[in-house]
Amino acid sequence: MKERKVQRRTVAKQKVTARLGPYKYVSHTGNPFFGDSGEPLSEPGGTVYAALEVERAEGEGRQAVFLECVDASWLDGLQVNDPTWLHRAPMSAIEVDDLFGSFALNFEEEPEGAIVWLKLEYSAVAAHEADGMKFNRLFTGGFPIRFDLVEQILAGPDHPVHKLKWVEVDVLTEPPRPLRALGEIEGVVAFDVGQGAMQGLMRRTEDHVVPVCYIDLGGGVLQNTHTFPSAFRQTCFGTRPPVVLSHWDWDHWSSAFRFEGALNSKWFVPPLSQKPLQQAFALILFEANALHIWKPTPGRIFFAGSVTWNLCTGRTTNDSGIAAVVQYGHKLDRLLLPGDAAYMHIPSAAAATSFNSLIMTHHGGRLKSKHVPTAAAGAVAICSVGAGNSYQHPFLDTFEAHAKQGWPLPVLTGSHGSRPGHVYLTSTQPVRGFGGACYTGSGCQSALKVA
Ligand SMILES: [Zn+2]
Ligand SMILES: [Zn+2]
Repeated sequence: MKERKVQRRTVAKQKVTARLGPYKYVSHTGNPFFGDSGEPLSEPGGTVYAALEVERAEGEGRQAVFLECVDASWLDGLQVNDPTWLHRAPMSAIEVDDLFGSFALNFEEEPEGAIVWLKLEYSAVAAHEADGMKFNRLFTGGFPIRFDLVEQILAGPDHPVHKLKWVEVDVLTEPPRPLRALGEIEGVVAFDVGQGAMQGLMRRTEDHVVPVCYIDLGGGVLQNTHTFPSAFRQTCFGTRPPVVLSHWDWDHWSSAFRFEGALNSKWFVPPLSQKPLQQAFALILFEANALHIWKPTPGRIFFAGSVTWNLCTGRTTNDSGIAAVVQYGHKLDRLLLPGDAAYMHIPSAAAATSFNSLIMTHHGGRLKSKHVPTAAAGAVAICSVGAGNSYQHPFLDTFEAHAKQGWPLPVLTGSHGSRPGHVYLTSTQPVRGFGGACYTGSGCQSALKVA
């Protein structure tokens, strides 16, 4: 097992392609973390440098926290300091439930959303002794680890983590052209991607509705990889749809590695922070000429035909991205697409307006703020969630908070018999599930035949 890992570290410029069960992942020349090994890769122990986003705990219940890590000795020996280190570095993700309780670190001095770096020494242990889980690939399970040492790496020029070069691109401040001219939207699909999110804004072409814009292209990863429906093998890029990324969490972009053509689309993304795994993905998009960072002033709202783009006002990754209000169908019903943002941080949702439909924020998980927008008469709620996920989403408390504002129990993706179980929302018919059809003959499974 160990030998195999060493081999993998040398594949930097080779194409990474791999298989997990019946699933073929898209080949790319990026970091091997995004290729699949088939089996969880483990090691007896080691040392990593880990980037952590500071988030203030609010609301009830524990929340899993993810660290984005780089092998420490590799980074200590880094010679060529340009952004291509992101393709080569041995990277991993570590999940912790309880933020280093016994090491008594606190980040109260740091503003919310700040990235702090830690040095972590760890050993592989039995599950009942574990402080967390380590994942050496995006699409595999992890192995339990115990922390032997946790230290904050203070700011300063001397440490290698403070000298790293990151992806730099010019940022757009106005709505990019492809997002200004989306035309009439017949309805919206919440695709069944397991524990993650992917939505399509659908336009009518003859007897199908097809995606003309994706909002997120995610799906189950790490210990929730299995929640992705293995029969969902390809999505439609026939209309050259742009992809808008609500925020940089991997459950919202991971299917870029599942669907052939995803890396050729134009991606419009919020600014990214200096965390290694999201940067490593951004570098892949950048090298494919697909990366377009949209960085307007937080709180701005852009009216662009059928879509109102909202720039969220919070500080964390979840709360500072892009949300959308989509007007669809003949009645121009209004759907709120919040990504994982707290509703209070979405300008259109913080205002006292009601919506005809919404996709519940954060997969129906913990609500960071109690503010929930009001439901219009006959409203529909949808929740994008993977059955059997490790976070136990969705939460009944979250459904209750929505019910108080008039929302019915949500329709869940993947919950109506055979999978994929996408959910189609339009104003002319009741919400319906479907498995996916192809209209171009390319074998995609994301169009819907309509009468
Ligand atoms: Zn998410
Ligand atoms: Zn998120």
